[in-house]
Amino acid sequence: MTNNTTLAGYILLVDDIIDNLDMLTDMLENQGHKVQIALSGQEALDKIQSDKPDIVLLDIQMPGMDGYEVCRKIKANPETQDIPVIFLSALSDTKDIVKGFDAGGVDYVSKPFKFREVMARVASQLKVSRQRKEIESLRERDKQQFESLAKIKNNFLYGTAHDLKNPLTGLLLYTQLLRATPPDNQEEIEEVANGIETSARKMQSLITDILDLAQMQVGDQMNFVLLPLQPILENVIKNFTILAKEKNITLDLETPEETVNYPIDTSYFERMLDNLMSNAIKYTPNGGKITISLKPCEESYELHIADTGLGIPKEDIPRLFEAFYRVKKQTHRQESGTGLGLSMVAAIVEDHNGTITVESQEDVGSTFIIDLPKIDQANDAK
Ligand code: ADP
Repeated sequence: MTNNTTLAGYILLVDDIIDNLDMLTDMLENQGHKVQIALSGQEALDKIQSDKPDIVLLDIQMPGMDGYEVCRKIKANPETQDIPVIFLSALSDTKDIVKGFDAGGVDYVSKPFKFREVMARVASQLKVSRQRKEIESLRERDKQQFESLAKIKNNFLYGTAHDLKNPLTGLLLYTQLLRATPPDNQEEIEEVANGIETSARKMQSLITDILDLAQMQVGDQMNFVLLPLQPILENVIKNFTILAKEKNITLDLETPEETVNYPIDTSYFERMLDNLMSNAIKYTPNGGKITISLKPCEESYELHIADTGLGIPKEDIPRLFEAFYRVKKQTHRQESGTGLGLSMVAAIVEDHNGTITVESQEDVGSTFIIDLPKIDQANDAK
């Protein structure tokens, strides 16, 4: 059995002399390695191509294709070029050794084989080969991460440019209108001014949202303070009372009697709640109801923002928290928005170590559920 299982590998032995193969196979298998054999250069190349061993132990002097040529072919093939080749050599002349390195070999073992030497050289090449594979997989992971970030960035730039284009076109049209038919009374001036203001405000809110989101994504320093959540929620309800009244929407707050302390960054936490509340009001028709509730659960606190509004189609839910994503329905699109609010909400929740999900039914309503894991510290300071 093996002494060092972490260094066990899959080894291809190439030699035309059966006795050599038997002896090396025994040595290597006793150390836990898996061994395959090949009796000629061509057989070796076929097995290397199909089985991709960790290491090849390759005899130099073989009839037909010699070891140097086999090695050169292994190294010329992009699929096999990284497999380390250790030469087995009866030749101990410096010239032959150098020729082996020139052909692409990484090491050599001279015959007659000494058990400890063979094992040490195999172990050292296995280690190098494992490290190389690890580095390659890390590189591959970095490459994938980089590509996905580049894609997000491109979508972001596209979304920004696309959404700035409409209000910008609006502004240019109003300029043309002013030139072509200058207003001659206060009413017409107001009309044009309102149009310009609406377009400018759209651009302003888009730029503000983009800057906020970018600030979140670069990991703007958060300042977490252990605070009671109830007063913060009461405040949110207070701040939205006038807006809700305009649509005859009832606001309700349900919180537990005991104080719930939680480490939050007040400014970001409030921004997150403001976003969810203004969406709830925006997408709830007149006469509806919005309820904020805080529920202590076994391992977390659940914060629900529930409305009796338009609801969200099932197929839109998976993409709801993506930047610029807006539900495609007319009833949703008639409300102005940038599609950036929920991606900012998700980033803030994540920075508070929480998760956000949504349950929704069209024409019934939506509930956004923020799950905040209980942290010992949060309860200690009661
Ligand atoms: P927006 O600026 O468009 O409101 P958000 O990122 O805040 O962008 O929300 C994305 C989309 O999710 C909205 O366009 C809307 O269609 C949908 N949405 C968000 N909140 C609600 C809600 N409470 N009820 C129904 N739909 C909602």
